[in-house]
Amino acid sequence: MNPALNEPDSPFDLALRPGDFDDFHGQTKVKEQLMVMVEAARIRNESLDHVLLCGPPGLGKTTLANLIANAVGSRLHTTSGPQIERAGDLAGILTNLQERDILFIDEIHRLHPSIEEYLYPAIEDFRLDIIIDQGPKARTIRIDLPPFTLVGATTRAGKLTAPMRSRFGIPNRLDYYNTDELQHILKRSAGLLKVEMETGGAKEIARRARGTPRIANHLLRWVRDYAQVKANNIITEEVAAQALSMRDIDEDGLDEMDKRVLEALISKFDGGPVGLNSIAVAVGEDASSLEEVHEPYLVMQGYVKRTPRGRVAMPSAYRKLGLMPPASAQAELF
Ligand code: ADP
Repeated sequence: MNPALNEPDSPFDLALRPGDFDDFHGQTKVKEQLMVMVEAARIRNESLDHVLLCGPPGLGKTTLANLIANAVGSRLHTTSGPQIERAGDLAGILTNLQERDILFIDEIHRLHPSIEEYLYPAIEDFRLDIIIDQGPKARTIRIDLPPFTLVGATTRAGKLTAPMRSRFGIPNRLDYYNTDELQHILKRSAGLLKVEMETGGAKEIARRARGTPRIANHLLRWVRDYAQVKANNIITEEVAAQALSMRDIDEDGLDEMDKRVLEALISKFDGGPVGLNSIAVAVGEDASSLEEVHEPYLVMQGYVKRTPRGRVAMPSAYRKLGLMPPASAQAELF
């Protein structure tokens, strides 16, 4: 997996995280919808409706949760699905909330089903029914909660249970950023890091950042080091290209694992169709990280197609590896 997507937010990430909606570039539709929701809640003097943010890692879900909290002037409490192991953990979090606080649950699709059951009344009616003791002594205690807002984030919208999805309004889907948007984000980051970067340099990094701001910022960090040691501290197009080639970051942003996936698909499985688990075993990677991180980008770039019978290599996948696409792969296009 790309290391930049695995790491928890470092002080570096935090320093570059936008502090208000004006600094959050791209995802215009999602941003505008959230700003309308925030404003409506403000006018009605009510807590904000619950929000669901979906999309691959590194596109800004946590950042948006922070921006929402800032915009409504509330405290943000952050946790994630796998961190809430027992009902007591959830009760601890919920009973700590104050009116209009924002509870951010990352990877909400990984909440245990029994915890989800406790969460539903909490987000619908702001109450928590806790069962104490077992057997004949078991009794339920009801705790009233202040109105709060749940912001759920998921990399796997399809894995959310139907009851959970229905508790949210319209889901907000974050898409990969285009090169112009990433360039804009990189210029802001370079300014904060006080690095001199030419437009060509920003463009070169943006092109190789897999449409993902977190990766763009991490690449910038490396290119900055390279420029400092080898190139007079100025990030030009050439310097960025040299620095990124040195780290094997391909011109289209594909990393080592992406290429291994394409190679396995083509050489071991004859271009597919093949199931994701077989690919995962062939490349020695966890199936869920292939599905959440690598596959969406390969599909978006047109290297791989998902079909009901499995994953199929598209002509551009063959070309990427310097191979001639077979006639059967061409036929997939039509
Ligand atoms: P996610 O929660 O979706 O994995 P994050 O919100 O943690 O992603 O974003 C990762 C990093 O990318 C943040 O630290 C932030 O610096 C940067 N980032 C994400 N989206 C944007 C954006 N639209 N504009 C500027 N920086 C962004």
